Amino acid sequence: MKILVINAGSSSLKYQLYNMTDESVLASGRVERIGMDSSIVTHEPAGKPEVRSVSEILEHTTAVRRVMDMLTDPEVGVLASINEIDAVGHRIVHGGETFRESALVTPEVKLEIRNLFDLAPLHNPAHMMGIQAVEAVLTGVPQAVVFDTAFHQTMPQSSYLYPIPMVLYKRHKIRRYGFHGTSHAYVSDKAAKVLGKPLESLKLVSCHIGNGASCTAVLEGKSYDTSMGMTPLEGLMMGTRSGDLDPAIVPYTMNKEDLTLSEVNSMLNKHSGLMAISGLSSDMREITDAMKEGDSHAQLAFDMYTYRVRKYIGAYAAAMNGIDTLVFTAGVGENSAVLRETVCSGLTFLGLELDPELNAQRSKEARIISTPDSRVSVLVVPTNEELIIARDTFKLVSAEA
Ligand code: AMP
Repeated sequence: MKILVINAGSSSLKYQLYNMTDESVLASGRVERIGMDSSIVTHEPAGKPEVRSVSEILEHTTAVRRVMDMLTDPEVGVLASINEIDAVGHRIVHGGETFRESALVTPEVKLEIRNLFDLAPLHNPAHMMGIQAVEAVLTGVPQAVVFDTAFHQTMPQSSYLYPIPMVLYKRHKIRRYGFHGTSHAYVSDKAAKVLGKPLESLKLVSCHIGNGASCTAVLEGKSYDTSMGMTPLEGLMMGTRSGDLDPAIVPYTMNKEDLTLSEVNSMLNKHSGLMAISGLSSDMREITDAMKEGDSHAQLAFDMYTYRVRKYIGAYAAAMNGIDTLVFTAGVGENSAVLRETVCSGLTFLGLELDPELNAQRSKEARIISTPDSRVSVLVVPTNEELIIARDTFKLVSAEA
């Protein structure tokens, strides 16, 4: 079975085509600048160099058509015909309280995703455009939706409610939802397999640290608490997002700086985090390079960033009455040995001992980086959200057949 995984944003559409026989990626790529002049399509067939083309792509249906052109191109394509695509899986950021697991797309499911537009105004409408574009181009092909929030639907009320008037939860569903759920679920499961233990037996903290970043406490194999909240702004300090702060800062800043709601929103989401403190970059590679040159602002940004990761790990160890497994994943978590070392250096009180050599090694495989005597097993597990989407889609479509 061949499954196309799509992550549709408002002006971009990323794709990966999987052969589910061996879960290999046949091709991947992205369409950028949808709706602007000179849209860019980048297509990479497995084992061959990527190709780029520039054309005018005004909306998502044309973007999906261009992807089909690439996938069936006589030179760079990997399919004889688009009829070879058996199913399409979509990444959906917000499943609200409705979706506890992935689902096949039906008129009812589309209606529910629409009902959640308010909770994820930047993401869910774009995902819906992706679903509709696929309907138009690949008519009749089954589609599935896989939610970033679904894994966290197991959180108890004491984790997901905010201490504000209950009426706000009842009327507007204001609560913690959490994100990166697909990633946290995948790396937790993989970590348990690497350790050769049942996931249900572990007290695990998963740190997904990429452009966006979140920590999740996984207890008895389920999400017990997570650092992102109603939106992906809460929790850890991120590339350009502030993460946790005193909510009173928002009205105070609006008043002092004469900012509108949308300006303050943009400040916290796009002009904060590593970028704001370093004054240099939101990219951890540039921060750590600048630190080596003695840049004190980059050093401060790094110190704040790692301090906040460590605080969350400590908080979740307390929340679960212990921790025996710590997992690092995503762009920064998988690649930055210095970040892992700095975070873990303050956790020796938990009996956690990192092996400096294992930590420094580079590998695309999931691996243990703690010493054999460490009371907490520390692992690096490369995440693969697209593969989870492909697997869930495969399962749902196979069950229907
Ligand atoms: P993601 O959102 O998971 O794709 O992560 C992207 C981020 O990972 C980039 O913005 C970089 O900050 C970070 N990253 C990638 N490679 C490295 C590296 N070798 N060292 C530190 N950070 C990295």
